[in-house]
Amino acid sequence: MTFNNVTVEEAFAACQKTNHLILDVRAHQEWFQGVASGSVLLSLNELQAKAISQLDKNTSYYVICQIGERSKKAIEILNQLGFNKLFHIFQGFGEWQKQKLPIEHPQINPDEVRYSRHYMLQGFGKVAQDKLKEAHVLMIGAGGLGSSCALYLAAVGVGKITIVDDDKVELSNLQRQIIHSTSSIGSLKVESAKYRLNDLNPEIFVEAVSERITGQNVDKLIKNCDIVIDGSDNLSTRYLVNDVCLKYSKLLIYSAVYQYEAQLTVFDFRISDAPCLRCLFPQTEGFEPENCTDVGVLGVVPGLAGVMQATEAIKLITGIGEVLQNQMLTIDLLSSDFRKISYKKSVRCEGH
Ligand SMILES: [Zn+2]
Repeated sequence: MTFNNVTVEEAFAACQKTNHLILDVRAHQEWFQGVASGSVLLSLNELQAKAISQLDKNTSYYVICQIGERSKKAIEILNQLGFNKLFHIFQGFGEWQKQKLPIEHPQINPDEVRYSRHYMLQGFGKVAQDKLKEAHVLMIGAGGLGSSCALYLAAVGVGKITIVDDDKVELSNLQRQIIHSTSSIGSLKVESAKYRLNDLNPEIFVEAVSERITGQNVDKLIKNCDIVIDGSDNLSTRYLVNDVCLKYSKLLIYSAVYQYEAQLTVFDFRISDAPCLRCLFPQTEGFEPENCTDVGVLGVVPGLAGVMQATEAIKLITGIGEVLQNQMLTIDLLSSDFRKISYKKSVRCEGH
């Protein structure tokens, strides 16, 4: 395609008139160093995602990037979207600076940069991001599941994460518990986790609770949060968490791992007739299945399951996609099999 090439001086002169504007298509982080005064800011990535609601087809746009290449791509996209008053500043912003044309420093919210890939994601955007910011997730356990789950909850911007665990970091944890590091051996897992989460995303609030979940503290922890993620390593804690989530009509994201396999499901106790953990696995007196301490687990298994727990949490908070409720996902990483098994509320369940 042919471009209406203009110099930076010509663009500057043209934009003194109304309905003539510079359109800067560089990336958000480049705008921090300054933009042409009065520019409209819309990155090439956002244009590619067709996030063009702030543009007007009756306005003439003088498209600028750093050296004049991305601006060509932007013009092609805008042209396809029905814009035809387009000019190409072929020298780019580097020349604008060299010619000492007026520059301003836009006030950019750091969230716009941190979450820019969410902002441009179709079906997600700022609306979903704001919901994540408002959410409070309780992560039970800072072990294998909690490691990958909490890291992603923090990375995607869940506003408040409470993480509960009373263990200390040991060398044998590090093969799978990637939130911790060799230098944190001997420290409390929740403190090690909090440090790492805040380092990853200082914009969120992380609350570290170095306690074991018991009948004494469980009500207080669960009733104040929106979603509970079970990353515990024993069945008695899992039943206790299930019962209290049911009592307070909370959402519970369950996962368990065994050697090369993982299980995952969501209990939505906001729904009055929702099945619970006891419907799936009725409690048997004195029965405690083997855990990773006894039978081992491949390092990536809780990593994957924790990421999937975080994914279910994101879907529940933002309302996107389909949630894994009334279905148990079983994952066998040796055969790469992912299977969903439906289940229902049990009439014999003692939990309801
Ligand atoms: Zn039940």
